[in-house]
Amino acid sequence: MAIDGYVPPGSVIGVLGSGQLGRMFAIAARRMGYRVHTFSPDQDTPTGQVADVEVVGSYSDLDAVRRFASQTQVVTFEFENVPAETAAAAGARAPVRPEGSVLHTTQQRIREKAFLRSAGLPHVPYREVRSLEDLRAALGQLGAPAVLKSAAFGYDGKGQAKIGAIDEAEAAWRAVANGECVLEAFVDFEREISVVATRSASGEFVAFEPSDNVHSRHILDVSTSPAAIPANLRREAAEISRAVLETLGVVGVLATEFFVTRDGKLLINELAPRPHNSGHWTIDACLTSQFEQQLRAVCGLPLGAVDMLRPAAMANLLGDLWERGEPDWARACELRGVKLHLYGKLEPRRGRKMGHITALGATPEEARDLALAARRALTCP
Ligand code: AMP
Repeated sequence: MAIDGYVPPGSVIGVLGSGQLGRMFAIAARRMGYRVHTFSPDQDTPTGQVADVEVVGSYSDLDAVRRFASQTQVVTFEFENVPAETAAAAGARAPVRPEGSVLHTTQQRIREKAFLRSAGLPHVPYREVRSLEDLRAALGQLGAPAVLKSAAFGYDGKGQAKIGAIDEAEAAWRAVANGECVLEAFVDFEREISVVATRSASGEFVAFEPSDNVHSRHILDVSTSPAAIPANLRREAAEISRAVLETLGVVGVLATEFFVTRDGKLLINELAPRPHNSGHWTIDACLTSQFEQQLRAVCGLPLGAVDMLRPAAMANLLGDLWERGEPDWARACELRGVKLHLYGKLEPRRGRKMGHITALGATPEEARDLALAARRALTCP
């Protein structure tokens, strides 16, 4: 049964942002007969290449944003740093899902941490820091090592400095060079996991299996699912994720990233109010992908079943792979159970996410080994 705010197939969905997340969303939306318009400052973008219409404009040009939104029946975003005024301008012409208030909370670390604290959700111990004196005091309370993070979200580890000892405070303060920061205790974690989950306008909640995530140079490298954690932690992670989506009032997809501590506790590291890199395996491994769930949620359709066909792993393909020329795509494609996703980005820069490989296996380890073997094969002489 369709629910409140139903947007039927054939309607136009507006996407603020134009990267790979928008691209994979647009593919899911077009498959179900929707039209997609994308808005961002760039041209010939990953989303624009598969959308019906690519609008080039600045997020601060609120007239352009209003014109864009008035051509659509509903607006979503793929990029959480869309300014709050932009979401509000779009919201004056079409419903925005999730609401701008969700963006506002999750796009700034101090607000996000304050939300977690007030909601009583488990998070990394932290202090707000607005000056070098604050930083010294916070280090005195939390101790070293610790991590100083700019409150304005960087991504992939940008705007962060690890502080090994109290006398490194000044250098870290200068390196992060931002007026508002948080200092977090350094978590000696056993593993990192994430839960991607969806909530509909009628309050239905569906979570994907958690992923085990391994980062390299602060960038997600490999996600494997189901995560190798006991059943009680898996349930707890899903329940925490449900509490996040319900308390924030999310209509859409939200990823919760956790540290699992060595004594088996879950601590939220951060939230992303959209499909997430650690959920890309859902495209090939689940009955409904994270992008189709986003579509269903923002269009008021019932959420899909997220059963996994087989254990899965995803390995990111960064621009670094192009250092010695175009990777040999046929080498990865010839491996059984391997799927290749490329985002249509024209310039392979170091650290830039150009695509990913998903592999399915009989076990999560087999899937991970296959994804890694496929990625290695791309650059084997
Ligand atoms: P973030 O951008 O905050 O997600 O940080 C990127 C990565 O840095 C995380 O996925 C962790 O691997 C590491 N990291 C961030 N914060 C901490 C912390 N407080 N303790 C230990 N490692 C951290």
